[in-house]
Amino acid sequence: MTQTPIIQIQNVSKWFGPLQVLKDVNLTVNTGQKVVVLGPSGSGKSTLIRCINKLEDFQQGEIVVDGHALSTMQRLEPVRREVGMVFQGFNLFPHMTVLRNVMLAPIKLRGLSEKAAEERAMALLGRVGIAEQAQKHPTQLSGGQQQRVAIARALAMEPKVMLFDEPTSALDPEMIGEVLDVMRDLATGGMTMIVVTHEMGFAREVADRVIFMDKGELLEDAPPKEFFGNPRLDRAKQFLQRVA
Ligand code: ADP
Ligand code: MG
Repeated sequence: MTQTPIIQIQNVSKWFGPLQVLKDVNLTVNTGQKVVVLGPSGSGKSTLIRCINKLEDFQQGEIVVDGHALSTMQRLEPVRREVGMVFQGFNLFPHMTVLRNVMLAPIKLRGLSEKAAEERAMALLGRVGIAEQAQKHPTQLSGGQQQRVAIARALAMEPKVMLFDEPTSALDPEMIGEVLDVMRDLATGGMTMIVVTHEMGFAREVADRVIFMDKGELLEDAPPKEFFGNPRLDRAKQFLQRVA
């Protein structure tokens, strides 16, 4: 099978003021791969994935997303339309219906007609199992439902890559499963995914590769069997003991 890189992170370093939060990070993700990013709080996981869709800038190195080099890119739009992101907080627009939330970006950024956007939105809401909630407002939904809407909203732009930053960390335990199920479906459908999560079961099952970060460094990159079964580094072992 040919492997096509869709994301290439090359020698990326980033500082917040005097604090270096990414240290010479290298990572290539091929089309269709599922990468789970693990690491202690403050290790740079969020910063790294936020760099991939240009929510953050970096000072050294390069990130290439589907042929677009981010460091010299003037406009955000080409990368934002290819890379969808789902956050810990659902970040839905509270004053709009669920349906409108999902329709908005395709109309504004992709020039879809109302009708086409509505059809796409309803299909996606069906896919994440909440078509019947389309006319409600986000606050009328549970956290798990809101996060599923957020996933549908990101998918509405037909991204080539989906980034997830701790998508279940703000949810009550009984709602985590429904969101992970949607993510599992997406993975099965072939989506390229980078997922920061503490859900080790999901990592074991879904990931092709587990990345371990600590203090801004990418320290391990291994298949989950290998990472969980036989972590190479003491720092990874200690991390796993803490989260297990
Ligand atoms: P993680 O997601 O692994 O918990 P982050 O990427 O959020 O880690 O943070 C990495 C480091 O960068 C931490 O030390 C954090 O305090 C710092 N940091 C994150 N965002 C900012 C910011 N906007 N300004 C200054 N420091 C930040
Ligand atoms: Mg984070």
